[in-house]
Amino acid sequence: MTPSKWGSCNAAKGIVWLNTELSAKPINATDYVILHELAHLISDRHDDQFVAVLNQHMP
Ligand SMILES: [Zn+2]
Repeated sequence: MTPSKWGSCNAAKGIVWLNTELSAKPINATDYVILHELAHLISDRHDDQFVAVLNQHMP
């Protein structure tokens, strides 16, 4: 996947990077970025499987 300003994920290595500036953002935005990057451990694309993980944990 393409790294974003706020976070990125290397699923092959099981590593998630988060921008430390996230700590100044609202907690729900931070939660979303963390969930987004963790979901990339399941799917490296924004496909149906990826969206299902987001919907399950942050409907
Ligand atoms: Zn993504």
